[in-house]
Amino acid sequence: MIRPKSKLPHTGTSIFTQMSHLAAQYGAINLSQGFPDFDCSPRLIDLVERYMRAGHNQYAPMAGVAMLRERIGAKVEVTTGVCYDPETEITVTAGATQALFTAMAALIRPGDEVILFEPAYDAYAPAVRLFGGVPKPVTLLAPDFAINWQTVAQLMNDKTRLIVINSPNNPTARVFSDTDYRELSRLLVDRDCYLLSDEVYEHVVFDGTRHCSAAQYPELRERAFVVASFGKCYHITGWKIGYCFAPRRLTEEFRKVHQFNVFSVNTPIQYALADFLDRPEEYLGLAAFFQAKRDLLLRGLAGTPFAPLPCQGTYFLLADYSAISDQPEQTFCQWLTQQHGVATIPVAAFYTDSINQRLIRICFAKREETLEKAIERLMAVKTS
Ligand code: PMP
Ligand code: GLN
Repeated sequence: MIRPKSKLPHTGTSIFTQMSHLAAQYGAINLSQGFPDFDCSPRLIDLVERYMRAGHNQYAPMAGVAMLRERIGAKVEVTTGVCYDPETEITVTAGATQALFTAMAALIRPGDEVILFEPAYDAYAPAVRLFGGVPKPVTLLAPDFAINWQTVAQLMNDKTRLIVINSPNNPTARVFSDTDYRELSRLLVDRDCYLLSDEVYEHVVFDGTRHCSAAQYPELRERAFVVASFGKCYHITGWKIGYCFAPRRLTEEFRKVHQFNVFSVNTPIQYALADFLDRPEEYLGLAAFFQAKRDLLLRGLAGTPFAPLPCQGTYFLLADYSAISDQPEQTFCQWLTQQHGVATIPVAAFYTDSINQRLIRICFAKREETLEKAIERLMAVKTS
């Protein structure tokens, strides 16, 4: 029987799919895969319907509906103070995932090295490999997951083509500091090396922490593809729509791939989002909205043996379970799902070497009652 030689022989089903499946199988509360269990704004749904009924149901322009790109440009300028030209520098994509993939496709040649920080979001390394690149992970460890920039400098050489960063970070919930960005700028200046900045949680930062975009640092801006997701902004992860902004020279290469990768993205949703972007309070309110959920979870965990780690941003919180068990993370997460009815994600899944630190990732993008029910169940978990 004919069988293709796998280009990703070591890649299996993602941990998010696995844990969501296990949660469904055991009827557990699903705090694993990152998606809200509450609905998006009804106005957004009305707008999509309006544009569908008005006949906006055929291909959109390759780079995205002009009005949406203009509104994205205005949003980027308001939030970062940096101007990108909607005509030549902003592209609407089928979610952040496609933007990440397309940027990598445009840049990476066989043998190119790509620096990633682990724990890393699962989509990065397989995409690097598909284009013949070699992922070079920098390992960051709990509790602070701090980056030693000296270590990064030592990894860099003439083959280093790309560095991928993600702040606010999934899963560590850590946010890049000004020092991180300055150190990164120093490393990249005068090199033929690019930056892919995954900023999908840009609006979800807590306790007065400010999200800084890579676009705000001139040495980074000139070589950066910045990626964002409407899925995270508007509680519509299932609509798979996002965007990428980058200087013209970079966007030209990005669009060459994009036009053959997806060509264009869902038309009525683009029109709807263009209208919806007229209310910045919708995304500017996200920090307070999710901080209340994080704090509810933190108060709840205080009555359990789980020890939370600091959470500066994203809708994920890491918790240390070493007071409960010395099982590896994957086994612990299965046990917690099956025995206590709460599904979470083992942080080891975000490391190439499955480093076990007795940490789980808890998604708190959930209704209050969901979080309260989960906390009740976690309170029943006993110390060892
Ligand atoms: N990057 C990170 C860090 C994510 O957590 C996610 C998904 N939650 C994505 C990218 C993918 O975003 P999208 O669903 O818009 O493709
Ligand atoms: N980004 C989501 C998470 O981190 C998962 C998305 C997916 O399942 N691919 O949980």
